[in-house]
Parts: sequence; C-alpha cells; structure tokens
Amino acid sequence: MSEQTFDLVVLGAGSGGYAAALRAAQLGKSVALIEKDKVGGTCLHVGCVPTKALLHSAEVADVTRESAKYGVAGQFGGIDIAAVTAYREGIVSGKWKGLQGLIKSRGITTIEGTGRLVSATTVQVGDQLVTGTNVILATGSYSRSLPGLEIGGRVITSEQALALDFVPKKVAVLGGGVIGVEFSSVWKSWGAEVTIIEALPHLVPNEDESISKHFERAFRRRGIDFKLGVRFSGVTQHEAGVVVSLENGETVEAELLLVAVGRGPLTANLGFEEVGVQLDRGFVVVDENLQTTVPGVYAVGDIVPGLQLAHRGFQQGIYVAEKLAGLDPIRVEDVNIPKVTYSDPEVASVGLTQAKAEEKYGAENLTVVEYNLAGNAKSHIIGTAGVVKAIRVNEGPVVGVHMIGARVGELIGEAQLVVDWDAYPEDIAPYIHAHPTQNEALGEAFLALAGKPLHG
Ligand code: FAD
Repeated sequence: MSEQTFDLVVLGAGSGGYAAALRAAQLGKSVALIEKDKVGGTCLHVGCVPTKALLHSAEVADVTRESAKYGVAGQFGGIDIAAVTAYREGIVSGKWKGLQGLIKSRGITTIEGTGRLVSATTVQVGDQLVTGTNVILATGSYSRSLPGLEIGGRVITSEQALALDFVPKKVAVLGGGVIGVEFSSVWKSWGAEVTIIEALPHLVPNEDESISKHFERAFRRRGIDFKLGVRFSGVTQHEAGVVVSLENGETVEAELLLVAVGRGPLTANLGFEEVGVQLDRGFVVVDENLQTTVPGVYAVGDIVPGLQLAHRGFQQGIYVAEKLAGLDPIRVEDVNIPKVTYSDPEVASVGLTQAKAEEKYGAENLTVVEYNLAGNAKSHIIGTAGVVKAIRVNEGPVVGVHMIGARVGELIGEAQLVVDWDAYPEDIAPYIHAHPTQNEALGEAFLALAGKPLHG
C-alpha cells in the first residue's frame, strides 16, 4: 500500500467537499480531495445546474408561446430535446472544466476512487492510504424511494428525469417538494400533462403556508394537476406507462412516475461507524463546529442533518476550512439560509414562517405584511404575479421574508441580510431600491412593516 500525507483529506468533491478543499488550500494547507465520480458532485452534474438549464428552456418555451403579447412575431414549434440536452450538457461541462482548473490552480491533489474511512486520520482509496491531520466527510446524498417502491423502468428519479431523451406526454410526480415541483414546472412548459401526488396538505410544504397556497393557485392556473394529503399505495408498470394507486382508491395513469420524496445521506458502508463516527438515521452527528463524534473528523453538506442545499454545503465547507486554520468564521444557522424553489413561479424565503414565528413569539406580538406584486411596475412588465410577505416582531426585527413570483430567487440576498442581521424595518425602510425593479417590492414590504407603506 502506498501512503500519502496531507494537512487535510476531504472525502467527496461535491459542493461541501470542494468548497472546503478550495478554502483550505487558499489558507496554505496541503489538501487531498478524493472523488469517485466527478468533482462538482450532485449540484453541478445532476442537481442545481442542469435542472436550471431545463427550467430556462421551459421559460423560453413559455415566452415564445406568449411572444405576440410583447409584440414579437414568433411561434412555439415544440421542444427539440437533443438541442436541450446539448445546451444542458454544454453548461455543465463548461462549469466542470472551470472547477477542475480552479482545483488544480490551488495545488489541491485530487485522488480518483472510492474512499473508505479506516481511522480518524486516514481514508483508504484502493491500495492507497491517504492520511491527514484532519478529515472532512462530504459524501453527499442519494434519491430516496418509499418502502416497496422500486426504481427502474418507468419509475424514475431526478437523475433519469434529467437525462430523458424525449418529452413525456403525461407524467405522475410523487412528492410536491422542491425537486418534484421543479420537474413538474419544466414538463408542463414543454407541453406535458402533469399530476403531482403529495402526502402532506400542501405543495412546497416546507414553505410558509400562505405562500404554499399562492403556489397551488399558480400551478392550478397553469393546468398542473395535484392531489394533496393522499398517500401512494403502489404502482404497476406496463409497456406504455404506469398506473399509480393511491390509498384513497384513486389511480393516476401516466407514461412515467418521477419519485421525488427526498434525499437520504450517503454514509453506509464507508467505515464511518467502525471508526466511531456516530450516525443518526444515517446522518452524521456533528457538534456546533461540524465536528463528528471523532475528534479531528468533520462533516459538511447533505450528510449533516438539516437543509440539503448546495450553498449550505459551500458555507459549511468554508467554515470548517477556516476553523481548522485558526480563524473565527461566522456560521449561519439553517433558519437564516435562503431557500429557493425554482419553478414557474419561484418561491424564495429566509427566516421563520408565520407559523413558526407565532410559535416562538405569539401571534399578538407579530406584524405580518403581504405586498402584492400587482403594485410593482417591473413585475407588470415581465408579466408575473406574486407577493412578498414579511414578518416582524412588534417593535423588533424582521424575522422572516417569503416571496413568490418570477425571479424572486434573485431578491433573497437582501432579505437574508435583513433577517440574519436582526434588522429593524425602521432602519432598512429608508434604503433606496432602484426603480423599476422587482427589488422595490421588498422595499415596499419593509416600508409597510415600518408602518409607512408608499404604494400599499
Ligand atoms: P454532493 O454534491 O452529492 O457530493 C458528494 C460527492 O461525494 C459526490 O461527487 C460523490 O461522487 C462523492 N462520493 C460519495 N461517496 C464517496 C466515496 N466513498 N468516495 C469518493 N467519493 C465519494 N441545491 C441548491 O442549493 N440549489 C438547487 O437549485 C438545487 N437543485 C437540486 C436539484 C436536484 C435535482 C437535486 C438532486 C439536488 C439539488 N440541490 C440543489 C441539492 C444540492 O445538489 C445538494 O445539496 C449538494 O449537492 C450537496 O453537496 P454535498 O457536497 O453534500 O454532496
């Protein structure tokens, strides 16, 4: 067995792992980055980036259909899936190349292969032992299924959905969370009939309830069918499609069933528990510094309980790298991490939902405003409906911002600063938002919270 020694060994080169490696190298550490597939991980290759390319194609399809409304002669002539694939793959490979170059330029040693933790300081990859003063686990997640529901044939996960070489005519989607609604939105814009099946009472069930209701109205208007509060009971596949059975006796017939019921941590059979890294339902147990139960071994990204988001992984990776370099980095709590559901319409939120804020502060101690995008000039121009909802503690800070409408994901950065910095509406309301931008809607919500709405 060959042996190499580094300051830091990172297992998994997805959002969390590569961010840790890049930052540690920048801080002068020698770093080994072990990856069994492609640097960039889920987000770059089969997650955030390629799905957003599909969503952009879907948006162009919708705009083309509506082009006459904007005085442009055009006609929607259908989807050329080979061209969509080329566009999607071009984006991913360009970003992949860029990332490989960046990793190389920082002097990081990449090691290809499947790693296994064999001690608190060593990962084994084939016949190599890769040792570090510290180890960061960043092995990511996989698409979960339901007990008894086998993936295969016409029952697919997001990974196969991305790579379809045809536009399905009729799709059933199991799960109305972020990934389920994202694909539903794309397929609907491409001309498919879509039915979402969600066991909870709302689509995007982790969002503020009133935003979920706005979202449901928007999806209904788009002709996306959904069944809420119903449980899946089984599926049968036949040559041309699937028949999905629900516990209430209903059935849904479709060409494909997309299973989008969440993602599980990829932590089994990697030596973690043997070395003493404690797991809880598969997730790695960590302390406030993201250190596992084995001193010197850290975990970042989707294997850490909480939100499974690429930007959370980036932030955790940077945090651990800086901590190990003796710096004092800021750790953003999950509640103050911005969340965006990419679909038509988009949902973006940060901080407490109204229900959680009521639980924490009491309904009588809150002011809640909803500013309708109907009053926002830019939203009119681009033809989107939606709202910005903001919540403050009376005579206190803004504790939650929740938005729905086209491109509201682009507005969440300001909202995050406001919520994370415990800003008071009176202090932020005077700041100027350029006109006409959708950003003004956020400014209007803060003015309303401060008791001086301009247009509301
Ligand atoms: P990963 O990105 O999964 O990386 C883990 C890496 O570790 C992989 O490259 C894997 O090959 C490697 N690995 C695993 N085990 C081993 C081993 N034993 N040895 C060597 N290498 C190993 N998040 C967002 O913030 N925005 C979005 O828009 C978004 N869209 C998404 C859309 C879809 C369809 C999906 C599936 C996910 C999406 N996500 C999105 C979530 C995001 O992709 C994840 O939160 C993020 O990738 C997690 O990063 P990670 O580093 O924890 O894991």
